[in-house]
Formats: sequence, C-alpha cells, structure tokens
Amino acid sequence: MANTTGIIFDIKRYSINDGPGIRTTIFFKGCPLHCLWCHNPEGISFKPQLMHRPSRCIQCGRCVLVCPQKALEIQDKKVVISWEKCTGCGRCVIDCPSGAMELVGKSVTVDEVMKEMIKDIVFFDQSGGGVTFCGGEPLAQPEFLYELLSRCRAMDIHTTVDTSCYAPRGVLERIIDKTNLFLCDIKHPDSAKHYEWTGVENAIILDNIRFLAQKKKPVIIRIPVIPGFNDQPETIKSIGTLVAHMKNIHQIDLLPYNTGGQSKSQRLGKSYKMSGIQEPSGLNIKELAAVLRTMGYKVHTGG
Ligand code: SF4
Ligand code: SF4
Repeated sequence: MANTTGIIFDIKRYSINDGPGIRTTIFFKGCPLHCLWCHNPEGISFKPQLMHRPSRCIQCGRCVLVCPQKALEIQDKKVVISWEKCTGCGRCVIDCPSGAMELVGKSVTVDEVMKEMIKDIVFFDQSGGGVTFCGGEPLAQPEFLYELLSRCRAMDIHTTVDTSCYAPRGVLERIIDKTNLFLCDIKHPDSAKHYEWTGVENAIILDNIRFLAQKKKPVIIRIPVIPGFNDQPETIKSIGTLVAHMKNIHQIDLLPYNTGGQSKSQRLGKSYKMSGIQEPSGLNIKELAAVLRTMGYKVHTGG
C-alpha cells in the first residue's frame, strides 16, 4: 500500500559504500540491538528525538519559553536539557533561530520515499547502482520495507538490505525474493561476548545468515572492527570459518570502528560507553584483511 508509513532518520544520495554503483541510502530509525560502539545512535530509538548542538546556540532563551514539558533551562549561559522530560515534540526546533535544536527522525509514507529515490534513477542505471535500506534496522519495520522493496522491484531498481539479521525468520522469508543483495553483519562468533557488547545473542543472526545461504541469496558479510571486542586475528578468522561453506558470500567488508558515535550520543543526551577507545590502525586492519584473504575471501576495508 502506497500509504504505509515508516520512520526514517536520513536519506543519503550518491552513496558509494552501501552496495554496488551509485546508491540512494534510506536510514530506518529503530534497532533492537544496542551496540556499545554504535556509529548511528540516532538510529536506535523508534521515535523522533531531539538533538542539541551547543556550538550553534546563541543563548536567546526562546526554546526555554516554548517547551511545553519545561524540559529546558539556561544555566551558566548554556541550555540544559532534562532529557527524561523531553517528548521529542519538536516545538523548540521550530523556534530556535540558530539551528541548535534539531529533530532526528520523521514519519514518511512509501510514496514520499519513492519520490526521493527515483530522482537518481538515471545514475543507478549508468553505474549499476540502486537503493540501500539500512538503519537502525530495516527488518524492524517489515511492512514499510516490504512495500518499498516491492515498488523498487516493479521499477527494476536494484535493492540492497543492510541488516544485523536480528529479526524473525518470517520477515526475511517475506522480503527475500524482492531483495537483490544483503549486507549482513557478523560482529562476534561467541554468543556471550556478542550479548555483552550488543545486548543480544548471535544465534538468530547466524541462523538467518544460514537461511540466506540455503536460498543462494547474494550476501556481503560486514564486520565492524571494534578494538577490544573483535579486533584479534583469531576472532576474524573464526568469523571467516563460520561462513566458509557458504557459496553465496561475495565479499567480506571490514569496517573500522570510528568515534563518530561519541558526539552524536552527546547531542542526544546519551552516555557513550567507548570513550577513550582509539580507532584501529591501518596496520591492524591490513593484518585482519590478510587473514581473510588467506582463507580465499575477497575483502574490502573501510566504510
Ligand atoms: S522537543 Fe519538545 S519537549 Fe523536547 S525540549 Fe524541545 S520543546 Fe521541549
Ligand atoms: S532557541 Fe536555540 S539558540 Fe536560542 S537558546 Fe534555545 S537552543 Fe539556543
């Protein structure tokens, strides 16, 4: 149905890192995982959220006056937000003259998203690109995703779903024939460790990846390389071993941890658990890539 709605937090055009060719990437808002290193913390909650940029604030005080929840005050020439009171209504965003208040996430219809996507259809055709659905977790909004995939299929637009694979099997079964390519994260081979760092165990994820293999669906495995979590050669080798028998794995991507989630978390009023952790060195990533290449995989490194 054209009027099916979903919540997204961004649409990026001309993306070249989310699948083949030039792509438009749709960021679904809401994710069942809580990875400590999350690079897109604005994608975790399923609701619109306030983001505050102190560097843009001119301390005019308008937001304080209009907030219906009395969640704002100015102390020592700074806006102080009582995040637990904020409902994300967006009233302060409208009145802020300097862009210091921003609302992340909005409800959109399938028609509205399609209208954006087809703007670049000529680039998709020329570059072998298409549309990528990521997040957050696209499988967590199954009806919205299904409708978008169906519309893309009807227009012969290549589709990629970038997913944690943490979803009921039925969701994957429903979309598999409408999806050209899956980008599937494997974050850690050990379930207890996976739980400790992401909030969920890995059994459902690995089971879904096996299902995609049975269906011979093209998959690129993505490994976020997180210092202290999975950046050891033996851990990466274990992940390579887990999928070694799967003929549908086209490539493995190593995505180095970056600290981008820290400032976003601060702007959302969230704590950041990875403070002080350094980004992995190029040498470390090269070493991990070599481990996988030795196992026969095509490996891509970087975002
Ligand atoms: S989003 Fe709404 S509730 Fe939250 S601080 Fe702004 S005006 Fe107040
Ligand atoms: S309205 Fe905007 S610029 Fe004015 S105090 Fe609030 S956040 Fe700062």
